[in-house]
Amino acid sequence: MTQTAEVIIIGSGVIGNAAAYYLACKGRKVIVLEGSDNIGNGGSSRNGGGVRQSGRDPRELEMVMWGIQNLWPHLHEELDADVEYVQKGNLRLGKTAAHMQILQKLTDSAVKCGLDVRMIDAQEVRRINPYLSAGTLAGHSQHPLGQRQGDPPAPQ
Ligand SMILES: Cc1cc2nc3c(=O)[nH]c(=O)nc-3n(C[C@H](O)[C@H](O)[C@H](O)COP(=O)(O)OP(=O)(O)OC[C@H]3O[C@@H](n4cnc5c(N)ncnc54)[C@H](O)[C@@H]3O)c2cc1C
Repeated sequence: MTQTAEVIIIGSGVIGNAAAYYLACKGRKVIVLEGSDNIGNGGSSRNGGGVRQSGRDPRELEMVMWGIQNLWPHLHEELDADVEYVQKGNLRLGKTAAHMQILQKLTDSAVKCGLDVRMIDAQEVRRINPYLSAGTLAGHSQHPLGQRQGDPPAPQ
């Protein structure tokens, strides 16, 4: 096993592995150390598989938006593999006043970062998905790149 490296990354989740991959592409010697028996043992092997911008902490949103524009659309060519990436919208729902506050806060901070996301009322929510329960008060909706503003987003 390699004993020395220019960069040592602790943790082989999607972030550690992606960082290692891009550093190696730039010619750096990298070692990834994983504490468990499995690669991607944390959130990376338990998530819903969505490449999501909305609902992100503003500190990570800029990087996520950059990835959506510059990395994900071409990743299948770069890796010569089907990464099953399709661009859809994101619909986030709320049923209580407290949920609405959370959604409004997320919306405001995302808009500040330049994300195309907005609050929508119960009527618009049901136009997008008529099968939602009557208890759904409202939501926030994010349109993907290249999708027309009037198109309803597909829930992720
Ligand atoms: C249920 C669920 C659903 C989600 N759905 C989505 C989604 O649809 N879309 C989305 O964008 N995000 C989603 N996420 C979030 C996403 O999965 C995480 O943001 C992402 O996987 C984090 O990756 P990571 O590499 O930072 O961490 P992790 O994947 O947690 O990897 C960390 C790795 O480091 C290892 N490690 C930890 N400490 C040490 C140590 N001291 N020494 C060595 N190794 C160590 C761990 O074993 C692990 O393998 C979801 C998360 C969860 C839990």
